[in-house]
Amino acid sequence: MDCLTCGNGLDHCHGTLIVHVGGAVDCTDGDCADHDRIRHALIVDCEFLGACDCHTPEHAAPLRHAS
Ligand SMILES: [Zn+2]
Ligand SMILES: [Zn+2]
Ligand SMILES: [Zn+2]
Repeated sequence: MDCLTCGNGLDHCHGTLIVHVGGAVDCTDGDCADHDRIRHALIVDCEFLGACDCHTPEHAAPLRHAS
């Protein structure tokens, strides 16, 4: 199925993939069906965004993200 936004037939996502400490990933697109890195053109470390607390000592390990 072609993408309605850009017409690209490849399976991909226009959200930004956020990589957390430990390798867990989230996507800024709430409808993102698959957090595979290959589907995302934009991949950032959550530390770069500064909007995640998993770099603080209390959350460094183990990873405790709900999603
Ligand atoms: Zn697209
Ligand atoms: Zn994080
Ligand atoms: Zn996505």
